[in-house]
Amino acid sequence: MQDHAQVVIIGGGIAGASIAYHLAQMGCSDVVIIEKGELTSGSTWHAAGLVGQLRSSRNVTRMLQYSVSLYENLEAETGLTTGWKRCGCLHLAGTPARLLELKKGATTARSFGLDMHIISPQEALDLFPVMSLDGIIGAAFMPSDGQADPSGLTMALAKGATNRGARIYQHTRVTGFKFKGNRITAVVTDKGMIQCETIVNAAGMWAREIGRMMGVNVPLVPFQHQFLVTETIEGLPPGLPTIRDKDSLLYYKEEVGGLVMGGYEPNGIPWAQDGIPKGFTQQLLEPDFDHFEPLAAAAMKRTPCLETVEVARLVNGPEAFTPDGNCILGPAPELENCFVAAGFNAFGIAAGGGAGKVLAEWILAGEPSLAIWPLDIRRFGKYHHSPAYNLDRTREIYGKHYTISWPNEEHHSARGVRRSPLYHQLKEKGAVYGSKFGWERASWFAPPGVEPEDELTFGLPNWFRHVGNEHRAAREKVVLIDQTSFCKFMVEGPQSPSFLNRLAANNIDRPVGSVVYTQLCNDRGGIECDLTIARIAANRFFIVTGTAFGVHDSDWIQRHLPPDTAATISDVTSAYAVINVCGPLSRRLMEKITPDPVDNNAFPFGQCRQITLGYAPVWAMRLTYIGELGFELYIPTEYASQVYERLWEAGQELEVSNAGYRAIESLRLEKGYRYWGAELSPDYNPYQAGLGFCVALDKENFIGREALRKIKIEGPGLTLCCFTLDISEPRLLFGGETISHNGNVLGVVTSGGYGHFVGKTIAYGYLPIEHANYSEGYAIEVFTETLAATRQPSALYDPERKKILI
Ligand SMILES: Cc1cc2nc3c(=O)[nH]c(=O)nc-3n(C[C@H](O)[C@H](O)[C@H](O)COP(=O)(O)OP(=O)(O)OC[C@H]3O[C@@H](n4cnc5c(N)ncnc54)[C@H](O)[C@@H]3O)c2cc1C
Repeated sequence: MQDHAQVVIIGGGIAGASIAYHLAQMGCSDVVIIEKGELTSGSTWHAAGLVGQLRSSRNVTRMLQYSVSLYENLEAETGLTTGWKRCGCLHLAGTPARLLELKKGATTARSFGLDMHIISPQEALDLFPVMSLDGIIGAAFMPSDGQADPSGLTMALAKGATNRGARIYQHTRVTGFKFKGNRITAVVTDKGMIQCETIVNAAGMWAREIGRMMGVNVPLVPFQHQFLVTETIEGLPPGLPTIRDKDSLLYYKEEVGGLVMGGYEPNGIPWAQDGIPKGFTQQLLEPDFDHFEPLAAAAMKRTPCLETVEVARLVNGPEAFTPDGNCILGPAPELENCFVAAGFNAFGIAAGGGAGKVLAEWILAGEPSLAIWPLDIRRFGKYHHSPAYNLDRTREIYGKHYTISWPNEEHHSARGVRRSPLYHQLKEKGAVYGSKFGWERASWFAPPGVEPEDELTFGLPNWFRHVGNEHRAAREKVVLIDQTSFCKFMVEGPQSPSFLNRLAANNIDRPVGSVVYTQLCNDRGGIECDLTIARIAANRFFIVTGTAFGVHDSDWIQRHLPPDTAATISDVTSAYAVINVCGPLSRRLMEKITPDPVDNNAFPFGQCRQITLGYAPVWAMRLTYIGELGFELYIPTEYASQVYERLWEAGQELEVSNAGYRAIESLRLEKGYRYWGAELSPDYNPYQAGLGFCVALDKENFIGREALRKIKIEGPGLTLCCFTLDISEPRLLFGGETISHNGNVLGVVTSGGYGHFVGKTIAYGYLPIEHANYSEGYAIEVFTETLAATRQPSALYDPERKKILI
């Protein structure tokens, strides 16, 4: 065992091998893989080997597309057999809703540059002649998907890595770590100790336990997963595509003249909750025929040849699943030099190639070339430390692996984790709750007599009309919105102004009482964080960011805090509830219960003031995310309930009402406000996003300044555009739809929805600047249907003049 390496990777599955391969390929050959068994001896060796590409996020799809392009050439590069076959994947639809989902997928694929076309049941049968078409009403085919031998792929990646200088230590178990401050300095193994600069936890379902050893939370849960392998089936044609028959919960692939068939039962079985048995290496679990029986019965209907063919074996292998069904990648926020790549939810073979590249870039360049927020480890919060939460939610997610993914679908398990002090008050008023980052948040309010339940549909849902009423109330009167789930930080200390000004693209060094909307950019000018910074004292800043972005944003801030800087950052989310009082009558309502002046002179837009509301001391900020006059009230938690009562009572004569998060979404689309994770991400800079007004290039220095200066001079290349559909009836969009001009695909919808005040369906998306200004010819493709669209100014509504701008 050598005593030092630049990067130590724990785990010799497909993830570890791929990370080593890509690090070495990018020129970092001082890489070591430590594996307690032999390569592939975790989940990798018993995977079925289907390689699909389409996910709902463009960049995650791109990551999987990259895997395919890598696997196509790996055998030629390394000389090792990978079993890669570009056989295509056939998706079956047994219900109209499933067919719509496939059409939605085909549209999304088109916007991502992937071919997926809708075909008839007969065409599906031609591709997979051994199936029964019973109940099948349509299908989709993605020709570039494939299948591979997972062990072969991993061995080839490992060989590609060692050919470039990486080293692999098998039969070597990691038993501990040495730390200095927030860094791991060395990895302790049963064969000796190895010092390192960077450590990667790619230990599959063991990543949770390895994480515990290093103080990093890796919220995954091993689940049993089974597939059946048949003997040779006489007459089975060669070159069959893989199949996903999700309505029957099944997948198939062809293997040496027989079929591999598996699926996702609704009642998955978690495994090894008290720890994975010590000697569990290159092992399977006992086949559970009884548990598999419903899947087998469904499979015999879909592929009747299974009734007579001999079963060669039933494979039962454990695999790491996560509470949101996505894998876990990126820098662990708890440590300075640790990365995680684990929890692949049974798509680790498909994701492995791309995940290795993303991780290698992250390690060497400090960021991946693709922004992959849906997979980022910093999407998890403190509540993900709870094994009970992880188990309950992951169990539900496992059972939904193949169920229809409905727009706005909420999960039922592990609910009520974080509740605003207004939770019960709003529930009594009809709040229908959704969950985000553990918080219960009112999605909409069911009026008396209306069932407080979400209808799951791809069409206009039951809540559409009621959200419309909330939306109009916010535009015409005054509404109260509980936004307690906002993440809030306090940054303070003598050097806090200079420290924050070095991070922020906007100038935050303004007089006390100023509130500044700003992006924190990376060296390329890409938007890492999008937040509001209020200066509440000379050396004290109150930072507000979106509900789910707290861990990510505080990690970005913390990592850029130079040692010995006189500034601290603390999370004060739980200390303040937030009520947003907004709408044209909001000032009149505020005036009724505060002795402090709230007129425009005393309290102008973009300012914050400490005021008294009823009996409560409150920080009020004059801004909203909906494009109306309004006040965000940051209320010490214990006062919030009373403040709400006061506002509600005083607001009766102004016809005050409640509004929820679905109304916020449609209101912000009308006003052109951007959302980080949709319009904003490290892939885009403020000039592309139409936020150039937030970039203070005249400031002395800040991260990304040079890049942004250059972009401003040379032009941004892309620009965020707003469209409305030309049809008059309301349609909901969900993001991922295709934007085209005269049939040429130009972009993808980042956010879409219905603007209830302007009476139009709205979509946003980035277009190359040279294609952004046609007077006609634009279209948005929705469920494979092409709908004419019109390019609009970026805000459709002007609150000052109460004017619709289209
Ligand atoms: C039945 C089944 C079918 C599947 N089918 C598919 C499929 O069709 N398509 C697809 O894309 N995915 C599929 N998967 C998922 C896929 O197998 C996994 O996602 C993937 O193999 C995970 O790879 P990994 O490298 O993250 O983990 P692993 O392969 O588990 O590798 C982790 C490694 O870490 C090592 N390790 C752990 N602890 C230590 C320690 N202390 N010291 C040193 N080494 C350690 C382990 O020995 C192990 O080799 C399937 C999984 C199962 C179970």
